[in-house]
Amino acid sequence: MKHYIPDHLIEEIRSRSDILEVVSANLILKKSGQNYKGLCPFHSEKTPSFTVSPEKQIYHCFGCGAGGNVFKFIMEMEDLSFLDVVKKLAGKCGVELPNSKSGKSNARQNEREMLLSINEKARAYFARLLKDDEGGRAAREYLKSRNFYDENLLAEYGIGWAAPGWKDILIHLQNKEKCSRTGLLRAGLIKQKEGAEEGNCYDRFRGRIMFPFKDIHGSLIAFAGRVIGDDEPKYLNSPETPLYVKGKHLFGLDRAREAIRKQNRVLIMEGYFDQMRARQHGIRNTVATCGTALTPAQATLLKNHTNRTTLIFDSDSAGQAAAERGFGVLLEEGLSVEVLSLPKGHDPDSYIQQFGPEKFLEELKNARPFVESYIINTIESGDISTPAGKMEVVNIVLPLLTRIKNTVERSEWVRVLTERAELDDQAILAELKNAIKQDRNVARPPTQTDERPGKQNPELYIVHLMLADKKLALQVKDELPTDKFEDSNLRQIIELFYQLIDEGCELRVDLAIDRVKEPATKTLLSKIGVEPIPFDDQERSTNDCIQAINKRSLDLKIEEIKKQRNEALIAGESERSQQLQDQLHELRSTLMPGQIPA
Ligand SMILES: [Zn+2]
Repeated sequence: MKHYIPDHLIEEIRSRSDILEVVSANLILKKSGQNYKGLCPFHSEKTPSFTVSPEKQIYHCFGCGAGGNVFKFIMEMEDLSFLDVVKKLAGKCGVELPNSKSGKSNARQNEREMLLSINEKARAYFARLLKDDEGGRAAREYLKSRNFYDENLLAEYGIGWAAPGWKDILIHLQNKEKCSRTGLLRAGLIKQKEGAEEGNCYDRFRGRIMFPFKDIHGSLIAFAGRVIGDDEPKYLNSPETPLYVKGKHLFGLDRAREAIRKQNRVLIMEGYFDQMRARQHGIRNTVATCGTALTPAQATLLKNHTNRTTLIFDSDSAGQAAAERGFGVLLEEGLSVEVLSLPKGHDPDSYIQQFGPEKFLEELKNARPFVESYIINTIESGDISTPAGKMEVVNIVLPLLTRIKNTVERSEWVRVLTERAELDDQAILAELKNAIKQDRNVARPPTQTDERPGKQNPELYIVHLMLADKKLALQVKDELPTDKFEDSNLRQIIELFYQLIDEGCELRVDLAIDRVKEPATKTLLSKIGVEPIPFDDQERSTNDCIQAINKRSLDLKIEEIKKQRNEALIAGESERSQQLQDQLHELRSTLMPGQIPA
């Protein structure tokens, strides 16, 4: 984390702040064993699953997976940045922060603040122009024609109007608001005329309805301008600036995040107007991608708040294509993806206007898992009356199925496909399964953590054991390279632990959690922290776990070589198959007798 507060002061603030005290100020906690429990402030529930460990100084919700330390709790509750939380707590617990502003990060911070202030002035200017009797008339007429002239809604979003002139923004912000031309250029509000001498600048946004674009914390980071006539492009966005990186934000998320968390569902729409229309009618858990394909960064943002996503894209083919691309990105993040197909010719905006929000919510209940609708669409647009047609359907659907990480879910979709496409031919089914297997062997996607109680999970136990005993932690680090860990979340935790050991830091969950980027890993770590597993013999358990992990890693290697050997045999490459056979023999001999896999 880049900030100008030195680490030792952050540690001081951390050690002087008590998570129990901070959480208690926000919700009622009851003692339960070593921990305290209460109703989670981040999702709605009737029985308490929000757990605070005063000993570990962390919290974890068993309902929604929220978790972290005292900093994270205030960040989430009050929607503050890490830096702001540190400052706030510093004031409370009497730690004095250096105000000598120096260094790169501080220059960056200053620039951010300058750009935010310019954007804010621009927004106020655009909003005023929209209300201007003469100047804003055309824009108001346009909004009225789309049934968007709702003063409250426009004010809530800060919608405005950029006049059609070439230098209106420039002149106003430079002369009246004392913004520098460099600042305006950096903010992307004006452009330098190509080939002209320096200083010949003009407004980027001319004759456009202006949508302020905010980040998840509600900071105004960019604008999007929509034409009211037939000009191109229909939407024009701010360029990338120090505040705004394309594909890292979602329109409306700042306002929707709480509802998304409470309902554990996000509705992903395409356009600004769609999102605003839904919001206007009290459908609050919506965000808009605004014409760009969903990115992994956006999927991660959503994953912080929910695991259930519903794509509602236009029923035209461009919308379908967008849904298809979005599906992959969300899936890679392990999110469940549903899709709602609105009747032909409708988008959420037009649908809600014509049929009302109740009917729209009713439709949402019919949202189908994306895979199902994909299978059905593929079958409907193909011809399954012939074997060739069936094979084509299989070839289109197959790549999609191989991307599903959950094997149970995938088998289920294979079944749906064979049923719907009338693929009762066992040979095709076998081929399908085989392709999925091969794909998995090539890519080996990260596995989900199995949390069933009683299920042997040596990788998880190792993490608990490392936290419990420093000496054992060192032993694990010596004996187990991180690539032996199969579960990607646990592997990340182990990597982090090894790093902390190298840096001479203590292995403590509340310290480690600040460094975890992946939300699912964060959730897992806070859960491990509030729910330590007791071992009667820690040393022996550690040795058992190391052995089990080594053995499984070896088993996997053996399976892989066996597969290669079989392929070589089939291909008639006798020399290669013999080599692989020798390798197999060698690997097997390292296993203890009686452990040779079948
Ligand atoms: Zn919760």
